[in-house]
Amino acid sequence: MLPSLSGLNSEQLEQWFEQAGEPSFRARQVLDWVWKKKVNSIEAMSNLPAALRVKLAEQFCLSPLQHSQTQGSEDTTRKFLFRLQDGRYVESVLIPANPALYGERADRLTLCISSQVGCAYGCKFCASGLAGFNRNLDAGEIAGQVLAAEQLSGERVDNLVFMGMGEPMANFDHLMAAIELITGAKTLHLGARHLTISTSGLVPQIRKLAEHPQQIRLAISLHGATDEVREQIMPINRKWPLAALFDALDYWNSHKKQKLTLEYILIEGVNDALEQASILAMHASRLRAKVNLIPYNTVEGLDWKRPNEDHCHKFRNILREAGVSATLRLEKGHDIDAACGQLRLKQESEEGKVVFKPSRS
Ligand code: SF4
Repeated sequence: MLPSLSGLNSEQLEQWFEQAGEPSFRARQVLDWVWKKKVNSIEAMSNLPAALRVKLAEQFCLSPLQHSQTQGSEDTTRKFLFRLQDGRYVESVLIPANPALYGERADRLTLCISSQVGCAYGCKFCASGLAGFNRNLDAGEIAGQVLAAEQLSGERVDNLVFMGMGEPMANFDHLMAAIELITGAKTLHLGARHLTISTSGLVPQIRKLAEHPQQIRLAISLHGATDEVREQIMPINRKWPLAALFDALDYWNSHKKQKLTLEYILIEGVNDALEQASILAMHASRLRAKVNLIPYNTVEGLDWKRPNEDHCHKFRNILREAGVSATLRLEKGHDIDAACGQLRLKQESEEGKVVFKPSRS
């Protein structure tokens, strides 16, 4: 496997050119071709001498991701399937804003990206965790998803959520290296406040990220307002129960200005009792957090159901009446299994050919 140019920051690239006996301004030129001009090949970097392009192509690939397939949905949400150099696959989902919710900001484009192949955390509602953990993505494979989505769509991504396949905080070093590429002025240059990391609740990493100087946003997959309920859904709760998680979130709040988001998937008969709403309201008020309620999406192989709409509204109203900012998320991409907790590779490799299995149960 060749290292990718899109996985190197400017210092690493400058170092390579220095060791290769080339002037350091070549590093700036390469970064410009990769991140600003978004070329498709090293050969196309026309202001580099031909011999240097050959040398670069011998030692690097441009991107570690090869586009394999795009699925588009009725509401123009698109799911991209990428083949990695080792033959494994990851997915990213491009989600346009909903005009009904965002009005003038309806041209906002959000990309949901993956941080691992598979996931070890086994949250019970989640399709990504069903097949277990495979491997971490490196910085180029994480940041490269943004670059590839922009190349494929011809549009600029202005919002990024780490909510795809994998637990981003369990791949902390590569995640932070990818964020450096995504936010760097010489690379993608997307503002840190447009980045949201979603975690199942890895307490030490929440504390570490709280100390990071960039104003990155944090979303917590809560899904239960008491340990008893959360444990049924989130195995991680046994390692870091709510008291430990809330301690870490207090620490976060003492370091950051941005409001936390608590994600709460509503599952009929599991965590949707109205008493849970009252306890959740109490936690959210204390943490000054907003709450995203997400009616459960059907996952092939799992029995759970979403509550009816009326019940979802009642649950949300309890939060609102307690003064908590709460939204009932209008899922986009449900028809292509690209909604939260639904990212799972459905392709089978048949003689090298990628085939999507039917995506609905
Ligand atoms: S919700 Fe996130 S952390 Fe939990 S199993 Fe799915 S991918 Fe992993």
